[in-house]
Amino acid sequence: MVGSACPAWCFGRALRRAVHPRPRLPRRRMTARGTLGGHRKTRIYGRLDCPTALRAIAKGGYVKHRVFFADEAAAVAAGYRPCARCMPDRYREWKSRRRKCEKAIQRGGPRLSCGNT
Ligand SMILES: [Zn+2]
Repeated sequence: MVGSACPAWCFGRALRRAVHPRPRLPRRRMTARGTLGGHRKTRIYGRLDCPTALRAIAKGGYVKHRVFFADEAAAVAAGYRPCARCMPDRYREWKSRRRKCEKAIQRGGPRLSCGNT
């Protein structure tokens, strides 16, 4: 679920209320897990209020590469990895999973499902 159609003018509102581009989702889902944002070039996803993302937006270098995900499953399925800054736990999980996967491939062993392929 990618919200690339989100126009630049609504971006600030999306950050504050996290309702765009899916305003019909129940509020509960918006607060507990939120809608995730991602960067199309770096393939990193994170929270909409991520400090790193906000800084990049302030510099004007982020918005045009921005995509939105309904949830983490959608982000992972699209090949994105968690942001180290705003999702450190997820990022650590992702890193150790990837390390295991790389080792297994180097040994020529069974290809683990690591979510990075
Ligand atoms: Zn982040």
